[in-house]
Amino acid sequence: MELAGTTITKARRLLQAGEISPVQLVDAVNASIEQTDPKVGGYLSRDYERARALAAEADTSLPLGGIPIAIKDVINVQGEPCRCASKILTGYTAPYDATVIKKLRAAGAIPFGRTNMDEFAMGSSTENSAIQITRNPRDPERIPGGSSGGSAAVVAANEALASLGTDTGGSIRQPAALCGCVGLKPSYGRVSRYGLVAFASSLDQIGPFTHTVEDAALVLQAIAGHDPLDSTSLDVPVPDYSATLNDGVKGMKLGVPKEYFVEGMDPQVEARVREAIEVYRGLGAEIVEVSLPHTKYAVADYYIIATAEASANLARFDGVRYGKRAEAPRDLADHYARTRGEGFGKEVKRRIILGTYVLSSGYYDAFYLRAQKVRTLIRRDFEEAFRKVDGLLSPTSPVPAFKIGERMADPLQMYLADIFTIAANLAGICAISIPCGETETDGKKLPVGLQIMAPFFEEVRLLRIARAYESAAGC
Ligand code: GLN
Repeated sequence: MELAGTTITKARRLLQAGEISPVQLVDAVNASIEQTDPKVGGYLSRDYERARALAAEADTSLPLGGIPIAIKDVINVQGEPCRCASKILTGYTAPYDATVIKKLRAAGAIPFGRTNMDEFAMGSSTENSAIQITRNPRDPERIPGGSSGGSAAVVAANEALASLGTDTGGSIRQPAALCGCVGLKPSYGRVSRYGLVAFASSLDQIGPFTHTVEDAALVLQAIAGHDPLDSTSLDVPVPDYSATLNDGVKGMKLGVPKEYFVEGMDPQVEARVREAIEVYRGLGAEIVEVSLPHTKYAVADYYIIATAEASANLARFDGVRYGKRAEAPRDLADHYARTRGEGFGKEVKRRIILGTYVLSSGYYDAFYLRAQKVRTLIRRDFEEAFRKVDGLLSPTSPVPAFKIGERMADPLQMYLADIFTIAANLAGICAISIPCGETETDGKKLPVGLQIMAPFFEEVRLLRIARAYESAAGC
C-alpha cells in the first residue's frame, strides 16, 4: 500500500470498506519507515510487534479505529521509552499513558513510534537532540525545524499518517511550516498535559501534525477535553470540529498584523504569504491591517518566562527517581552535580541557568515579574485585535528551512526562528500552520507555512479558516 497521499480520512474510508486491514496499514507504515527513515532520522524508537498486536484487535468503527499515530518523545506511552531526546533519561520506560494517549486509544488509534525532538523541547531545529540528527525530507542538508522536528518530518516524508507534537513557543507550527505539513497548537487548556514531560507549564500544549486540516480536526476531536488530572485543562464541552469545516470565510474579517512582516524576512516567504492573503480576499473575506504593538517584546518575554518555568520543572531530574545516575558519587551533592552535568546538554543547561537567574532574589522583580506584566500586555494586544477581526494571518516562520549547523553557534539566531509563533503561546490562543507554497532556495523547493491565529478556544473557527485556504488551493 502506498502511503504518499494517504490521509487519515482516506485510510479510514479504506479500513471501513474493508479494502485494507489495520494490520496491513501498520505494515505499510513500518515498511515506509524502513525505507525512508535511514535518510530522515525522524524516529527514535518503535515497537512494531506491539503496534501489530493492537492493530489485530482494532475496532475500525471508532473515529480513529486502526490509525497508527507517531508520538513525540516527550509524551508518556506506557511500557515505551520516553527520553525527551536527552541522555538523562537513558533507560527510562514510561510507567503510564499520558491522557492524550489514553484518549487516542479510546478513539481506536494505535500509538506507533517515538519521534525525535530537541532535548526537552528546547530548540527550533531538532539539532539539540542528544540522540540523532533529523533531516528535512525536502533537502537532507537542512533542518526540519523544531522542537517537534521528528513529528513533522515523519508526516512530511510519508512515514506516518499523523503525529503528536508539543508547542511551547512554536514547536508544532514552525516545523510543520518548514517540512510542509499541517501543525495545530490548540488553546492553552484545551488538551490535557497530564503525562507530558513539562518544559514551561504555562505555555506547553499538545497538538497534531497531519497532511490536511480535515485530519487535524479529527485528531483534535480525539485528544481535546477536560481532564481531572490536569487542573489547567478547562472544563468546557468539546465542540464538533469537523461540522463547519467547509463553511468558508465569506463575510469574515481577517487581520494582517503589520508587526509580522519584518525586515530581514525571506522575500519569497513574504510573497507566498501575501498571495495566500489574496486567496482569502478572493474567497470573500475582508482583509484589514491590524497592529499588535507589543510583538517586539515577545521573544525576550518568552525566554524569561519559559526558562524560569523550565528551571523549576527540570529540578526533578536528580538521578534518584528517573533515568541516568552518575557512577560512584562521593556524596549527595556530587551525585546531583555529576548526574545533571553529564545528563543534560548545553542548551538545557543554558536555560536552567538563565531561568534560575531570573527567579533569584534581587532579579525576580526586574525580570520575572516584569515579564509577567509584559505577557499581560501581549494578551491584551490579541484581545483588542479580536474585537475587530475573526482571525489573524501571518507567516509562521520568517525563513524557510535553514542548513544543518547554520545557527547552532548563535543561540539568539536560533531563538529568533520563533519570532512569529511565540506570542500565541504567551496569550494562550489557538494557532495553526498550513502549507502555502514554496520558495526556490539554492535550487531546492522549500515549503512555506501560513500561520492563522484565532481567539482563545475558537478552534472551530480556526480550522474553518484554514480549511477555506486549503480547499481553494486544491489540497
Ligand atoms: N524554539 C522555542 C524554544 O526553544 C520553542 C520550543 C517549543 O515550542 N517547545 O523554546
